[in-house]
Amino acid sequence: MPIDKGKIEKAVRMILEAIGEDPSREGLRDTPRRVADMFEEILEGYNAEDDYTWFTETSDLVVVSGIRFYSMCEHHILPFFGVAHVAYLPRGRVVGLSKIVRVVHKYARRLQIQERMTQQIAEEIAKITGSPDVMVVTEAYHMCMIMRGVKTPAPTVVAAIRGKFRDNPDLKNEVYRTIEPHRLKPFPL
Ligand code: ZN
Repeated sequence: MPIDKGKIEKAVRMILEAIGEDPSREGLRDTPRRVADMFEEILEGYNAEDDYTWFTETSDLVVVSGIRFYSMCEHHILPFFGVAHVAYLPRGRVVGLSKIVRVVHKYARRLQIQERMTQQIAEEIAKITGSPDVMVVTEAYHMCMIMRGVKTPAPTVVAAIRGKFRDNPDLKNEVYRTIEPHRLKPFPL
């Protein structure tokens, strides 16, 4: 589904008018087009392709930590961003690290809520690795909680913990220990 950029441009022009701005002044003249281009880029996850390639390897535990992501909260259309950590127990096949990063971006780059994004990443990792033993932790700062509302830059942490990670606390804790150095840094202000 290609994004209707003309419609976004029209909508942005209306927002500019609605807040009392002059959409024809120099600084704003190209803003509707820039915003439409921007939405096309930051919401490109809707059109992501599933082009995974495999290689086989045996390993006890695979953890990919500190994957940076930028998403947009669907309640306020403001950014939320942070890091995702993905762990799984391979069942005969290990998927390339860049593919895991791509799965994170596929679900981040659309209008989202962090809880659903985390579950969707876990679901897809389970699908492409063929393993039900998947754990995904995401940590994010939500601009809608920082610029407005509670105005608190506290990170939101969400976890999807499946299969053996759910049943075995030692395994779960091993993942938390492994991701510890790559966790979200304090908000800079
Ligand atoms: Zn929000």
